[in-house]
Amino acid sequence: MTTIKLHNTKTRKREDFTPIDDKNVRMYVCGPTVYDRAHLGNARPVIVFDVLNRLLRHVYGDAHVTYVRNFTDVDDKINARAAESGRSIGEITAETTQWFLDDMAEVGALEPDHMPRATAYIPQMVAMIEDLIAKGHAYAAEGHVLFSVESYKAYGALSGRSIDDMIAGARVEVAPYKRNPMDFVLWKPSDDATPGWDSPWGRGRPGWHIECSAMADELLWKEPLRQDRLSDKAKSAPHVFDIHGGGLDLQFPHHEDEIAQSCCANGTDEMARYWLHNEMLQVEGKKMSKSLGNFFTVRDLLDQGVPGEVIRFVMLSTHYRKPMDWTEKKREEAEKTLRKWRELSEHVQPSKPSKKLIEMLANDLNTAGAISQLHEMASVLLAAFGGADLPDEIDVGGIESEFLASAQFLGLITDELSGWNWKAENEKDNLIGWAEVLSEVRLQALAKKDFSELDRIKLQLVEAGLEVRFKKDGVEIVDDIGIDQSKIGEIFYPWANNK
Ligand code: AMP
Ligand code: ZN
Repeated sequence: MTTIKLHNTKTRKREDFTPIDDKNVRMYVCGPTVYDRAHLGNARPVIVFDVLNRLLRHVYGDAHVTYVRNFTDVDDKINARAAESGRSIGEITAETTQWFLDDMAEVGALEPDHMPRATAYIPQMVAMIEDLIAKGHAYAAEGHVLFSVESYKAYGALSGRSIDDMIAGARVEVAPYKRNPMDFVLWKPSDDATPGWDSPWGRGRPGWHIECSAMADELLWKEPLRQDRLSDKAKSAPHVFDIHGGGLDLQFPHHEDEIAQSCCANGTDEMARYWLHNEMLQVEGKKMSKSLGNFFTVRDLLDQGVPGEVIRFVMLSTHYRKPMDWTEKKREEAEKTLRKWRELSEHVQPSKPSKKLIEMLANDLNTAGAISQLHEMASVLLAAFGGADLPDEIDVGGIESEFLASAQFLGLITDELSGWNWKAENEKDNLIGWAEVLSEVRLQALAKKDFSELDRIKLQLVEAGLEVRFKKDGVEIVDDIGIDQSKIGEIFYPWANNK
């Protein structure tokens, strides 16, 4: 079995990944707050953890992985959006949730097994908060419930900060009802105009962090136990799950707070075994922000005609722990590469992804390495189809099938993402390329006064449905009636071979 290595933020080391129960590998990733279109940065964790999800399923089996990614549908940003637009909260969250799903499908992300909405788990959150109060880790004050950071010694361990550092470094909200300025909100009161649920502390709504602790516990611990999907080994193991992921901006305070809540409620010293954080996305070397005018959504790019597959390719070209720079140049190059790759694998049946590609990914998700692996395979195929003399032991058909399976493993060149117009541009390029070759053949024919080769090629092009126009300064090939690709393949190869 492939050993997956992952860089664990918690230990700051690359570790061998050993699941608690290899029959039920469990991963939780923090999802979006649904009040607006996903910006390009939001797509990064989705794509990164989509690759990890695919890899885990490859190694442990599709039926043995549970991947949960939540929707935060209760949040003050959503309330503000409702107030300013005059629309209902439910309408806004339903609409943006669907936008998110549509946009992420366009960048080739598979849907997680569970996509819980926070508002569907309020009773679980209330129960967890009551438990934290009972255990002395939280206190109610003025309609709020706060987590007491001093009650949890390991607070700050994930990001390596002490409570004093945090107070000095962070812009903490000092409120009269807080015992310590770092204490964070588990529950807060709602006025009549704000969404609220009845609770032992009055009508109110949850703070941000508690939803992930409650939903991870419900879907990655209680639910598999109810379904009896955990092995005896896992049942007797501590109350934790395997992998927790999200963007680096969530490490503090969100993930510290999730850990504090879960560990104190469940009486464990960890919430998840492995913590993974993707670095942030920038645009042309600058932080993406509305004030810099370089802020755009995934949908903006799709609407401008940038294929989702191209977005995915560019994202995967940078390792997830490095800052990633979205540039126009990368976009153009990715598009060219994908055009070529789609053409190379057009009538190919996929076999299995290459071992080397899986090894790359198993090495802390080296997606950039996996892409160079694909480039290597593609260059062998290009050489073979260009008529190069390759050693006999190279099995071109085998490489073709492995190439396609490998690309598809990364979520590229899939049928689902085939909706963009890669062929038209390719054909335009091809017509230009063939015309250049034909011009050269014509010059040689004129010099030798032998037009047989030129006539042969011209006839074949015409038979393939193309029109050939000889002009003073060159040759033009036009496709008016629709090209028959099956007749094109052979035309130029003999010539390319003899060159
Ligand atoms: P939010 O809706 O802001 O809570 O973010 C949803 C997810 O997107 C979280 O995992 C964030 O860490 C991630 N994220 C937000 N901005 C960026 C960015 N510029 N680059 C990479 N990830 C981001
Ligand atoms: Zn979270």
